[in-house]
Amino acid sequence: MESLRELYRIGAGPSASHTMGPKRAAEQFLARHGAAASYRVTLYGSLAATGKGHLTDVAIQQVFARRKLDLQWRARERLPLHPNGMLFEALDDTGSAGASWRVYSVGGGALMEDGASATAASVYPLQTMKELLAWAEKHNAPLWKYVEQCEGREVWDYLARCWQAMQEAIERGIEGHGVLPGALKLRRKAHRHHQQAKGRPGPLQRTGLLTAYALAVSEENASGGTVVTAPTCGACGVVPAVLRYLREVLNVDDKAVIRAMATAGLVGNLVKTNASISGAAVGCQGEVGTACSMAAAAATQMMGGTAAQIEYAAEMGIEHHLGLTCDPVAGLVQIPCIERNAVGAMRAVDCADYALLSDGSHEIPFDTVVRTMKATGEDMQERYRETSEGGLARMHVPAGVDPAALDGNHCG
Ligand code: SF4
Repeated sequence: MESLRELYRIGAGPSASHTMGPKRAAEQFLARHGAAASYRVTLYGSLAATGKGHLTDVAIQQVFARRKLDLQWRARERLPLHPNGMLFEALDDTGSAGASWRVYSVGGGALMEDGASATAASVYPLQTMKELLAWAEKHNAPLWKYVEQCEGREVWDYLARCWQAMQEAIERGIEGHGVLPGALKLRRKAHRHHQQAKGRPGPLQRTGLLTAYALAVSEENASGGTVVTAPTCGACGVVPAVLRYLREVLNVDDKAVIRAMATAGLVGNLVKTNASISGAAVGCQGEVGTACSMAAAAATQMMGGTAAQIEYAAEMGIEHHLGLTCDPVAGLVQIPCIERNAVGAMRAVDCADYALLSDGSHEIPFDTVVRTMKATGEDMQERYRETSEGGLARMHVPAGVDPAALDGNHCG
């Protein structure tokens, strides 16, 4: 498994796979071939289908700045290794292609070329939850210790920066007003939820606070603000909401939060390694499902759970999102994404509560549910995997929006 630096990335939304990944790929290609007369970038599959709504073109154009760029959209074509394919070409004065690079944005901002990561080496020898639990038992150590062992003590500084960025996104989101960018003209809700929560007596604040924090981060993401992938931009509201809520109600310090982020990161890394965190590959079960699983693990640890209870909570976080499709309305990371983050945060705390009521023993192992999620995603029709051609994106035409305008967002 790769470093947690490859899972938690600080960057601009609204989509890790559709903005952060393509932007990184463009930067890498330009660094290698900066002297070409012009460039052609062809986007395939899901990247082309929902790229306009997800601001893929804006992210790539920012990198090429004033250079001549021809952006091609090929939503009906798919490159062999992943639905989010890209072809970068450097062109000469006559428009003939010289150097080219085929690369994939595989989720969470990560890149892959010819089946291998284009960004990072493996730093975690253990690859399954079963192995992690055996390590914890053998060393009589918490799971977060394994992160320190593999990544060194510097990892705590990196996670602290991510936690800081998460909190800043919550603060900005809570203070945000007005409508989000895009055809839906969706109103921000985080501020209202926060105000409503503050007006309720203590124990009844739970739903208001959790949803306010998740909405705040997801609304920041939808407006192109800075967020932390956890594990993706589309699902970036779940983990910060749970961490912030429990930091407040349990009155724990930042060290406890960052250690919980480490354990959540292991969970996200297991899914990324053994299945996928890409909505284009496996649907939203891989994004919000994984985020819920990560947050459930973090919450269980913060509430004093054992490694077995953490595994149980993480397993439930995915199990009860199995089959969840990706069908963003108008190709925007807004409906169902933003509300889904809020519900995912509530569910994560519920999973932790449930696991803590048990002794951690249960029937379906985490590793099995991850394999199941991968198989379910592979069985899912392509229209339900971040193309905006099925589900809510096809059935719901928002008031005041021309259906032809929606088609333009996802057919490229
Ligand atoms: S529906 Fe889920 S996977 Fe799809 S764009 Fe929204 S958050 Fe991402």
